[in-house]
Amino acid sequence: MSATKNLLPTVAYFCMEFGLHPDFPIYSGGLGVLAGDYLKAAHDEGLPVIGVGILWRKGYTNQYINDTGWPYDVSRDYSFDFLKDTGVKVEVQIKNTPVTCKVWLADNFGNVPLYLLDVDLPENKEPWLTHSLYRGSGDDRIAQEIILGIGGVRALRALGIKPDVYHFNEGHAVLAGIEMIREKMSQGVAFTDALAQVRKGIVFTTHTPVPAGNESHHHGALSYVGAYNGLNYEQMKKIGGDPFNMTVAGLRLSSITNAVAALHGETANKMWHGVSEASPIIAITNGVHQGTWQDPEIDRAYRMGNDLWGPHLENKKRLLAKIKEETGRTLDPDTLLLGFARRAATYKRGDLILRDRSKIVPLLTEGKVQLVFSGKAHPQDEGGKDMVSRIVSFAKEFPDRVIFLQNYDMRLGQLLTRGCDVWLNNPVRPMEASGTSGMKAGMNGLLNLSTLDGWWAEGCRHGFNGWQFGDGYEGPNQDEHDLNALFATLNNQVIPTYYHQRQLWQEMMKNSITVATEEFSARRMVCDYYEKLYAEKDGESISA
Ligand SMILES: *Cc1c(COP(=O)(O)O)cnc(C)c1O
Repeated sequence: MSATKNLLPTVAYFCMEFGLHPDFPIYSGGLGVLAGDYLKAAHDEGLPVIGVGILWRKGYTNQYINDTGWPYDVSRDYSFDFLKDTGVKVEVQIKNTPVTCKVWLADNFGNVPLYLLDVDLPENKEPWLTHSLYRGSGDDRIAQEIILGIGGVRALRALGIKPDVYHFNEGHAVLAGIEMIREKMSQGVAFTDALAQVRKGIVFTTHTPVPAGNESHHHGALSYVGAYNGLNYEQMKKIGGDPFNMTVAGLRLSSITNAVAALHGETANKMWHGVSEASPIIAITNGVHQGTWQDPEIDRAYRMGNDLWGPHLENKKRLLAKIKEETGRTLDPDTLLLGFARRAATYKRGDLILRDRSKIVPLLTEGKVQLVFSGKAHPQDEGGKDMVSRIVSFAKEFPDRVIFLQNYDMRLGQLLTRGCDVWLNNPVRPMEASGTSGMKAGMNGLLNLSTLDGWWAEGCRHGFNGWQFGDGYEGPNQDEHDLNALFATLNNQVIPTYYHQRQLWQEMMKNSITVATEEFSARRMVCDYYEKLYAEKDGESISA
């Protein structure tokens, strides 16, 4: 691919969050880590990609557990002295007031250039708008989306960058399309033609298979905060409907949309079927950056055809040492270790395995399994926090068998997806668009044990590289159905294989690495983007 890079379109990739490195915490979870992995894979392949995002000076949230077992949030000020000052400032209007956005450059993490907007400047009335990711009121969110979308396009113009393709990763960025329409209209192009023209250069990725998860805004608020950007109600309604749905806007502002796994492609097509003049939705499954997530020793042993157990046990011991350091508790390196670490969103059902005591308690007391959990709930998500508190109270009851690690981040994610034996995943199907931690786990030879949702619906070869449970069931009593299926698979397949067929287990570890590295790498994903999303946009520069 790199040989022909001069012929390849330049892509500006907009995203609200980027997870490039644990010490650069401008991300919350999977969306940001995906965006970070994408920028790194694009860099590895020599592709002409540029990232556009926001410099969240206080990051997302740091979340710990208090004495009563309940999660609480701590915010911190970070220093980003590794960023480069581009010297560029652009202006946007928020609530009829000019707001200056300073543009920083981050290119320190083996990634292509990432430009970050920052309004924490003395001349701005609301410098806190770019402090905390996914915090604040509905109006704040709109303002942040003005900074990302409208400010992002203006930053590219000021930097002299002329993208061939504008990629909106999730609906947060769609106001960039409104800015591009405004540019055309200011040159005398009629609204309908301007929309038709900018669409040709925009592609969109949708991530949320739950209607309620797709952000929408009342037109009153959009207009008040300044998202109309010179357009009128009729024009804005034509793009996003009323109320203004950010995903609908993404579908109508783009020439093509991708969902993030094959099953999600089906779900998204059903979900958005009724949207007129939407771009076609294809599926391009997510991938993860091998250089970031795969342990080099596992990689080496795999490529040499050497024994995987040695390097795996090293990774497991590294995780157990971290557990000891954080919690003072000691797990046994020879006992099967199941891991579950994700955003504590209730649809992911982090506590599912604990819900029937008659099933889980004997496995713990007989020493057949150990469990390690981690995950942050959104600071305002009481249901998510409640789920965390249930896991924490279980961990209190079984101190040397069940662990909860506080303040889940990329660093813990890396230790966990290298050091467990089995990676558990049990979202309510079909609510997990893709999921990527299981891909990281697979690259390190962990065996996935998961419901057939997201990427696992296509990645699973049952009994070959891991196991599925629940047979893809969707419907009433899904929790009970999946819980029974989970324990049937655990008791009849996972536990016996681990303790009595270590040879087969190691064979499966190898298969797990093969499937994850060959089919679910960010390298494969960026190549798919170039072939299926960005193709035929060469030279058709639509920059103003
Ligand atoms: C990989 C990763 C995620 C995404 O994992 P899912 O399986 O999609 O939930 C979230 N947070 C962190 C810190 C990660 O490293």
